[in-house]
Amino acid sequence: MTALDILRKVFGYPAFRGPQAEIVNHLKDGGDALVLMPTGGGKSLCYQIPALLRPGVGVVVSPLIALMQDQVDALCQAGVRAAFLNSTLDYAAVVATEKRLMTDDLDLLYVAPERLFTERFLNLLDRLSAAGKIALFAIDEAHCVSQWGHDFRPEYIQLSILHERYPAVPRIALTATADALTRREILVRLGLESARIFISSFDRPNIRYSVVERDNPRRQLLGFLAGHENEAGIIYCLSRKKVDETAAWLNEQGIAALPYHAGLDTVTRMHHQQRFLREDGIVMVATIAFGMGIDKPDVRFVAHLDLPKSLEAYYQETGRAGRDGEPAEAWMTYGLNDVVIHRQRIDESEAGEEQKRIERGKLDALLAWCETAECRRVRLLAYFAENMEERCGNCDTCLEPPEMWDGIVAAQKAMSAILRTGQRFGAGHLIDLLRGKVTERMAQLGHDALPTFGVGADLDEAGWRSVFRQLLAGGLLHADAQAYGALKLTDSARPVLKGETVLHLRRQVIKSREKSALAGRRNKQRNEARRNTAFAAQSPENEPLFETLRAWRAEQARAQGVPAYVILHDKTLHELAARKPENLSELLNVPGIGQAKGERYGAALLALIPH
Ligand code: ADP
Ligand code: ZN
Repeated sequence: MTALDILRKVFGYPAFRGPQAEIVNHLKDGGDALVLMPTGGGKSLCYQIPALLRPGVGVVVSPLIALMQDQVDALCQAGVRAAFLNSTLDYAAVVATEKRLMTDDLDLLYVAPERLFTERFLNLLDRLSAAGKIALFAIDEAHCVSQWGHDFRPEYIQLSILHERYPAVPRIALTATADALTRREILVRLGLESARIFISSFDRPNIRYSVVERDNPRRQLLGFLAGHENEAGIIYCLSRKKVDETAAWLNEQGIAALPYHAGLDTVTRMHHQQRFLREDGIVMVATIAFGMGIDKPDVRFVAHLDLPKSLEAYYQETGRAGRDGEPAEAWMTYGLNDVVIHRQRIDESEAGEEQKRIERGKLDALLAWCETAECRRVRLLAYFAENMEERCGNCDTCLEPPEMWDGIVAAQKAMSAILRTGQRFGAGHLIDLLRGKVTERMAQLGHDALPTFGVGADLDEAGWRSVFRQLLAGGLLHADAQAYGALKLTDSARPVLKGETVLHLRRQVIKSREKSALAGRRNKQRNEARRNTAFAAQSPENEPLFETLRAWRAEQARAQGVPAYVILHDKTLHELAARKPENLSELLNVPGIGQAKGERYGAALLALIPH
C-alpha cells in the first residue's frame, strides 16, 4: 500500500494536508525529521502512517499519560493495532502488551518517557531492533526538552539515547511551539541537527482573537459566553482562588463549569478532565496547570480573565481552541492591574538579571499586542517571525477597527501629574487628581492645590485608565514594582512631554451588559454564518439528522467508554447529514470514515439516514 492508500483506507481522508505527504515519505525512506506545526495541523498522521508503511512497530514517546488511552482508542477504531505502556497499567496488562509487542502484533506503541528508560523496556527494544522491527521513534511534544519552557520534563533530555543506541531507526520530533529558541534547543538536545525541518504556518485561521478592556469582568464574561451556549471551552485565571470562585459563580449562572488547578487532589483533577473530554458543553475554569496536550477537537473558545505570561504562552493556551478547524474564539479581558502584577512577579522572582530582562521584554511585547490597533493576527504571527501581508478580517481590530484619537495633550497631562507628585503614586490616585476628585488623601497630601488638579475632567475614569495603560504598553511609563506600582516616566517620555512627536491612542469603549450580550450573540451568528459558508454541510435543514446521528454517537461512546469524538468527529457527522449516503461505498467516501469504521458502523448509520 502507498501512503495515500493508507490515508484513505485506514483514516478515511481523501488527501494529505500541507506538508504531511512530504514528511511521511521522508520518514518512510528512513530520514529524521523535526516537525513544527500548529495545534490541529495534523501532526499525528505524520508518524502514524510511516509507522504503518515500515516494517515493525512505531514507538511514540509522549508525556501525556492521561491521553494515551484516548489516542489508542481512536487508532483501534480505525483498525490500527495500537497499545500503550505507562504507570496507569497493572502488571498483567503490561505483560500482555509486551507480549503483543514481541510477537509482531502492534503497529504503534505509545510509551511514557520514564517507562522507556527502564532496563526492562530497553532490553525489549534491543531485541526488536536486532530483528529490524522498530519502524520509527516519534517524540511528541518535543518542546518538553526545553528547560526554559513551562512544560520541561527532565526525562526528555535522555531521549538522545535513542539515536545512540538505535542509529538505524528514523526519528521524528513534533511540536506546536513556535518560538525559535525552543526549536534550536530541541535540535541540539535530541541530537537532530541533521534532521530535515518541516515548518508550517502557525496561523490558526479559524480562531478569532479579541481583547477587551476590563471593566466589569464577570459581566463581560457572561456577555461573551452568551455567544457560546452549550459549547465546550476553557477559561484561564491566574490564581487557584479565582478559579474556584469563578467556577462556582458560573454554576450559579446556570453554566456547567468545573474548576481545575494544582491545588485540587489528583482524583478530582482527573475526574474533571474526564468530564470535560467526554461530556458535551463543559466549561473548564483553570490555571495554566490545565491544558497541555488536551486533544479534544471541539473546544470552541479559550477565555483569559488574566493576562498570560507572554505571547508564546498566549498562543499555546488559545491554540487549544478549534483543533477541528471549525470556528473558535480566543477572548481576553485585560487591565492596568495586570501590568503591575506581572512586573512585580518578575521583579520579585528568584531568576537572574538576564532572565528577568528577557521576561520583561516578553511582557512588553504582550502589552503592545493587547493595545494594538493593527490586525491581531498579523502582529501575533510577526512575533513568531512569520509575515502575513494582509489584515485577517477575523479579529476584533479587523471586525471593528478601534477609533483613534490624538492623545498628545492627555499624555502630557498624565505625565505632568506624575512629575508634580514626585513619581510616587499609582494610576488610581493620579486619575483622581486629574479628574479633580477631592478625596481625604488628596487633601492630606495637598495635591488639590497642584496646577494639574482637575485638568483632566474631560475624560472619565475608564478613559484615563486606558490612557495610562497605553502609555505603559508603549513604554513611555513604567510601573515600579518596588514602589507598589508607582508610575514613573521613562526616557521615551521626553519627546511627548516636549510635544515633539505624535501620539495616537485607541478610544476606550466600555460595553454595558446588554451590549456585551448582544455582541456575544452577534458573534455567534457570525460564527454560524461563517460555518455555513466554510462547511456547506452545516445547513439548518440537515440539523435534525445531525442531532439524530449525534445521539447515536453519544450512545456508542457511552457503551464503549470512549469520548464521542473517538467514534466520529462532528465534521464527519455534518458531512453524513448533508450527503445522506445510500450504500456502503458512498459512506466510505465521507471524510473521516475508513474501512474499519465503515464495517463497524456502516449498517447502523445507513439505517439512521432516511433515503
Ligand atoms: P495536532 O496533533 O497537530 O494538533 P491532529 O493530528 O490531532 O493535530 O489532527 C487534527 C485534526 O485534523 C484531527 O481531527 C485529524 O483527524 C484531522 N486531520 C489530520 N490530517 C488530516 C487530513 N489529511 N485530512 C483531513 N483531516 C485531517
Ligand atoms: Zn485581523
